Amino acid sequence: MRLIFLGPPGAGKGTQAQRIADALNIVQLSTGEMLRTAVAEGTEVGKKAKPIMERGDLVPDDIVVGIIDERFGAPDCANGFILDGFPRNTAQAEALDKVLAARDLQLDHVVELKVDDEALVERITGRFTCENCGEGYHDKFKRPVKPGICDRCGHRKFSRRADDNEQTVRSRLEVYHRETAPLLAYYSAQSKLKSVDGMADMDDVTAQIKAILGAP
Ligand code: AMP
Repeated sequence: MRLIFLGPPGAGKGTQAQRIADALNIVQLSTGEMLRTAVAEGTEVGKKAKPIMERGDLVPDDIVVGIIDERFGAPDCANGFILDGFPRNTAQAEALDKVLAARDLQLDHVVELKVDDEALVERITGRFTCENCGEGYHDKFKRPVKPGICDRCGHRKFSRRADDNEQTVRSRLEVYHRETAPLLAYYSAQSKLKSVDGMADMDDVTAQIKAILGAP
């Protein structure tokens, strides 16, 4: 199964992509994660991407398309994947169509997570993750059961994304509406678009997505 998860920052794409990827035994491909790793490792791509990500702008298309194309060739993608955070604009969507066609692959569905903008700033600015296992938490909606200790792995260090501050979040939302939202029409025209209510609770959103995919 080959899927795209579309939605504004904070819509829950990452969380849902992780859950669905686990359930279907496919991989989650997050360009944001790949870029954050490149920044942390100080690679050439990372050095270029860092200031752009800090502003909340989009990294150049050739960089992300190149990263994704290379990733598609890895053996773990053979069973399928979920694209989380890619494509982000029409040029990337067109490039993706070409990359997939060259590999003789097709997309099955594009899943849109619909959420209200007002909810997003609160969702994003409160989130943090375990530095060891990546489990996601939130100051208001999902604190660790024992304060300061990860529920999943027991680790005691957490981190917040550099771009999860209010000012950058507002730019990221603007960029989403201007650059990424037009992809809804793009995939609707290909009869691939399915929408779910991203304001529902997390388990309910997972259930809605599984129902669309016909997954148990
Ligand atoms: P995300 O983790 O998806 O919220 O992405 C974090 C940041 O990485 C974005 O605000 C962009 O600066 C950059 N980024 C991630 N994916 C892309 C993409 N497909 N195209 C351009 N920039 C991206």
